[in-house]
Amino acid sequence: MPELPEVETTCRGLAPHAIDRNIHQIIVRDSRLRWPVEAAVQSQTVGRSIRDLIRRAKYILFKLDDGHLLIHLGMSGSLRISDGDTPHEKHDHLDICLDSGFIIRYRDPRRFGSVHWTADDPYQHWLLKDLGPEPLSEAFNGTYLYERSRGRRSAVKLFIMDSHNVVGVGNIYANEALFLAGIRPQTQAGKISRPRYERLAQSIKKILNDAIALGGTTLRDFISGSGTPGYFRQELNVYDRGDQPCRSCSRPLRESVINQRATYYCGNCQR
Ligand code: ZN
Repeated sequence: MPELPEVETTCRGLAPHAIDRNIHQIIVRDSRLRWPVEAAVQSQTVGRSIRDLIRRAKYILFKLDDGHLLIHLGMSGSLRISDGDTPHEKHDHLDICLDSGFIIRYRDPRRFGSVHWTADDPYQHWLLKDLGPEPLSEAFNGTYLYERSRGRRSAVKLFIMDSHNVVGVGNIYANEALFLAGIRPQTQAGKISRPRYERLAQSIKKILNDAIALGGTTLRDFISGSGTPGYFRQELNVYDRGDQPCRSCSRPLRESVINQRATYYCGNCQR
């Protein structure tokens, strides 16, 4: 599944090709995405210019002259730059054709993604309005996590994976950040101290920033269309390493399941 770093990289890769370009056509080959692609996606956008590309959580917002396109990549989606001569393939459901001759092509084999148009404040759109802060913003810090978690009895791993609390912390990143912070994933969110949440907030930022930095090396793939979407291959400390030695203390890592998601941790380094 494309995670926050992949979406951020997609945004950065598209920006130089998209910003200040005019949309001269939108081709919808299959409107049956997670929600049907409404007619406004075509009728309100053709002839308008793309003024900015913004990532919010895992949505890419195309800021046009008088509204926004909101695109989510779902489980298997990608957005690529193609030249006008590249034939579309089976899962290429939507093309945003630019006046430069290039096409921003939406591919999504499993069709869990979405494309919406809104003329109103995009941050008040029903898909976005209840989302928590961006993990890389200043608003996301140890004090925020500490105050937000008081009285919460759920496992801290679930707490940080809940997009109402903070967006973009997927399963792999949650496992890795909790290891870096030395916090056991099962610990009740409401029982963790402010200094430990400070470490956790910094760890989440570090894991995501490292992944985004790694993603920068794949930007050329946006032209060739040869890149495969998915996790950037970071060196992982705990994820998928059950029974293997902890990179810090060499004891075997533990594996368990929290809310049906694979969970890995060191019983010695994480308390
Ligand atoms: Zn350890």
